[in-house]
Amino acid sequence: MDDLKEKYRKKLCAAIIPPEALKCIEILEKAGFEAYYTGGAVRDIVMGRQPCDYDIATNAKPAETEKVFEKEGARVHETGIKHGTVTAVIGKEPFEITTYRMDGEYSDCRRPDSVRFTSDIANDLSRRDFTCNAIAFSPYRGIVDLFSGMEDIENRLIRCVGDAQCRFKEDGLRILRALRFASCLGFEIEEETKKAIAGNYELLGSISRERIFQELKKLLCGVNAGKILADYAFVFFFLMPELKTLKSGFEGRGNIADIWQRTCKVIDGCECLPHIRFAAMFYAPCSEEEAALPEEKKEVQTVRDILNSLKTSNEFKKSVLDLIANRDIVKRRFGDKDILRFIGVYGPNTVNDLFSLLKSEEAAEKEVKPAGCLSNVESLQQRFEYFVQNGTCFSVKDLAIDGGDVTAAGIKPGPDVKKTLERILDDVLSGTVKNEKSLLMARLREGKYND
Ligand code: ATP
Ligand code: MG
Repeated sequence: MDDLKEKYRKKLCAAIIPPEALKCIEILEKAGFEAYYTGGAVRDIVMGRQPCDYDIATNAKPAETEKVFEKEGARVHETGIKHGTVTAVIGKEPFEITTYRMDGEYSDCRRPDSVRFTSDIANDLSRRDFTCNAIAFSPYRGIVDLFSGMEDIENRLIRCVGDAQCRFKEDGLRILRALRFASCLGFEIEEETKKAIAGNYELLGSISRERIFQELKKLLCGVNAGKILADYAFVFFFLMPELKTLKSGFEGRGNIADIWQRTCKVIDGCECLPHIRFAAMFYAPCSEEEAALPEEKKEVQTVRDILNSLKTSNEFKKSVLDLIANRDIVKRRFGDKDILRFIGVYGPNTVNDLFSLLKSEEAAEKEVKPAGCLSNVESLQQRFEYFVQNGTCFSVKDLAIDGGDVTAAGIKPGPDVKKTLERILDDVLSGTVKNEKSLLMARLREGKYND
């Protein structure tokens, strides 16, 4: 145990902590207070990962923290003053500094009714969710690890601080956070915590959908996303019941459990971006004939419903739906002109994302379909890539002429201008005319687009 502490102390002391983060602790200590890094930063450093932020816990009360930092000339914001959090900006970096606190009763399964400040770091660590997140470190005071967090990190385990049942009943979101950390850190979930998840996952029903979405996004991009989604399928089907209809929409697809297993493989196999991973989660395999059925369209609507229920931004929704609506691209007969138009409508990034998804789907299908039945994603991707790299005109805005040129050539202003530009684009994409201003103007003047 002491060996472990020494090993981790060395790691933490050798870590390159940004000078601004060190300064925060120094300022509080020099003013006579205690201050520690806590949560994700300590966990990430000992695991050799780059922390995304350095949260600081202190025995200074919020007003004292403000005063100390203002005296040092730092800008201070009262970000979460009710919960004891003050943000201090050192250089250009913002740091959240939170007074040690104990949470009061939880009557809404999410937030404590009240928080009480405390002068003991032990109380602050005991309100934290998992042992790996409940370690504190200060270059001045060393490591405080009261719940064997270091041992759990060594054994790669997510374990609740205290009684798992109680902790989940206090705040249901912790159930999804447990799965998120298991997915992102590649950890297993400890037995008692696991049992408490199975017994209490319906508490997630009372958690705000925005918070659920934030955790899901991270979870889906974790190194172990597929395994967690497979092992805890019941949680995801509870959170998104529409998934069941997606996975069982077509006769003869096999049972939902098999399809979900395959979905999990597709998720692991595609690029690690939230919108691609979400699209992969909604993936439900279907045959060529099935793709022509109205149900396929219904599928897009179901995905839209799920994303609406998660209150995602319109931009995120569009990025997922663009992928879902074009999953069948290999089955469509794409001529060169169609490819150019597609790039014009969706842009090269969506093309990349789509092929990342399709290749992962294909790899997962390979395991269940005979080789001859596979569509050739690779060759279509090569054709797309050729045009992404060599094409110069994909949409009306890439044309060598614009609306002003069209009206100058005698087309009357109004909807006819747009229609004319579309027809010109069509001719350029099919190679009838080169995208050169003089050539396009000549055709306009010849009256080629007058009818
Ligand atoms: P990340 O690297 O994704 O930011 P993190 O561990 O920093 O991970 P945060 O959500 O930023 O996670 O939370 C910071 C810390 O606050 C956690 O490490 C944990 O100690 C504590 N915490 C956050 N949410 C909860 C919660 N719902 N219940 C108990 N403790 C929590
Ligand atoms: Mg964090």
